[in-house]
Amino acid sequence: MCGREETAANPVVSVYDQLTICEECIDFIDQMRDAERRDRKNMANKDKGGKSIPTPKKIHEFLDQYVIGQDEAKKYLSVAVYNHYKRINQQKDSEADDVDIEKSNIILVGPTGTGKTLLAKSIARLLDVPFTIVDATVLTEAGYVGEDIESLLTRLLQNCDYDVERAQRGIVFIDEIDKIARKSDNPSITRDVSGEGVQQGLLKLLEGSTVLVPPNGGRKHPEQKLIAVDTKNILFICGGAFDGIERKIASRLNTHMVGYGHDEKSRKMQRENLMRYVLPQDLKSFGLIPEIIGRLPILTSLDPLDRNALRRILTEPKNAIVRQYKKMLELDGKELVFTDDALDLIVDKAIEYKLGARGLRSIVETVMVDTMYEAPSSKQKTITIDADYVASQLDKAHYDKTHIS
Ligand code: ADP
Repeated sequence: MCGREETAANPVVSVYDQLTICEECIDFIDQMRDAERRDRKNMANKDKGGKSIPTPKKIHEFLDQYVIGQDEAKKYLSVAVYNHYKRINQQKDSEADDVDIEKSNIILVGPTGTGKTLLAKSIARLLDVPFTIVDATVLTEAGYVGEDIESLLTRLLQNCDYDVERAQRGIVFIDEIDKIARKSDNPSITRDVSGEGVQQGLLKLLEGSTVLVPPNGGRKHPEQKLIAVDTKNILFICGGAFDGIERKIASRLNTHMVGYGHDEKSRKMQRENLMRYVLPQDLKSFGLIPEIIGRLPILTSLDPLDRNALRRILTEPKNAIVRQYKKMLELDGKELVFTDDALDLIVDKAIEYKLGARGLRSIVETVMVDTMYEAPSSKQKTITIDADYVASQLDKAHYDKTHIS
């Protein structure tokens, strides 16, 4: 086979009188086969549950590297995700186990820009499973303008090159779940195609069933080949701002607190952030149907970000915006320094313009544009950004006029 002459040290074997193969080649093929078997085994192990599953405490610590605060949500998420994967592994290990652990999808309630998506993204990063973020607002009931509910899973499939097995253990983050709340209390007035209709459709996905997914998203059409996906082991994390839900929480709390001390207590709660007291019945008053709420058994809230949190977000997370700029300039051989008062001013502006955490990035980008333009061609080794420079850059960009809404 290899064309070499037979020697005493390397005799050849004849195979079916068709081919002669020497012992060296046989050894080589043997080694190749072993290596391939090892690879296949590794792949299979990896697919079983990705890397070994970290404990809830480890998940929490990992999240701390990327997300500031939100301890309550982190704790719930860590436990839920850990249990989710334990459950999948249990199913694989012992088919005949009598205790069936049910899956626990999650709903995160909290103001926009407080880290709901970031939490979900960070978890997916840790677990090395297919992950996708989808927006509930594009969905409508089948037969109406918009996307079919099953298209939620298209992106998940795309993210793992249509490997259905992997997709079936992935995580889907459904953003803006509050936008598909029932529009009115009386469901019979008009057809609510992007509200209750979508919720009914979502139910099927959340509870776990085999659904047919259009491979390219959008609307299903008859001649299209659909992919069957079992959602039993897909973890759904839903997020929503639920604007105005505080009022529902407050009225529930008030009706339950009668008598002495009620005013003082409710005022204290108001100050503390009412969202912390959110319960499933508040989601129902907001317009989610009870069946959906039942399929999202883990309900937790995120706190609004205060000045202290914003300040920490600027510098502490692993991929904090300030760290990113430092790194970028370091690659040019420069040291970038932000003074404390410069950072304070950036936070002040984000608060003043009501931009929240998302605004921090846009402010820093405005401040840094000239530096990023000049630095690569300048001889200066250390670049210091102080409060005066921040103020003058924002002034120059008319930041106050362009960003006040
Ligand atoms: P939402 O709650 O609307 O899903 P996101 O998670 O998308 O908000 O947050 C928007 C951006 O703001 C993030 O990409 C991140 O840069 C920043 N951010 C928000 N909250 C936090 C937080 N708690 N810790 C760190 N960064 C945050």
